[in-house]
Amino acid sequence: MAIYLFKITNKHRKSIWRKIEIQDTQRLGDFDQMIRESFGYDDDHLSAFYRGKAWSAQGYGEIEPGGQGRGANKKIQDLKLQLGDKLEYIYDMGESYISLVELMDIGAEQAGVAYPRVVEKNKQRNKYCEQCKSKGKKQIAVYNVYYFEAESLEQLCEPCMESVEEDIDATEIVY
Ligand SMILES: [Zn+2]
Repeated sequence: MAIYLFKITNKHRKSIWRKIEIQDTQRLGDFDQMIRESFGYDDDHLSAFYRGKAWSAQGYGEIEPGGQGRGANKKIQDLKLQLGDKLEYIYDMGESYISLVELMDIGAEQAGVAYPRVVEKNKQRNKYCEQCKSKGKKQIAVYNVYYFEAESLEQLCEPCMESVEEDIDATEIVY
């Protein structure tokens, strides 16, 4: 079986990327699961792959959490991709979750390897909790916290996020 190597890059934060290998007979649903897991996306939302730009290009259909849905069953080999071809992947149908998906290589399967798998990722450049920082502590931030009332954004560690009393929306920071 052939192994496809893809580089998946956040379209708006190009420093955030993963390289994933997948078998040509595996499905877009399998690919989707590995992307969700490796970027730390929560698992509540729809996703989709597009042949070209998200929304405007041909879409392969929606994929549901758990790897089902209309877009999930297409096999990688049925996409008929050539080296350098680019797809776009969108998670949660939100602008900030669009990724570029580029086919980097097609190689041979290695014995004893479970596919799909992440083979490489960007180096983690830590962001630090802003509340801890103001108390002179250095703590890696885990959440982007949006304050509805103040319409402002802060990056916080888990304990600081949990102690917030205002109305917030917290999403995990992707590193
Ligand atoms: Zn903190």
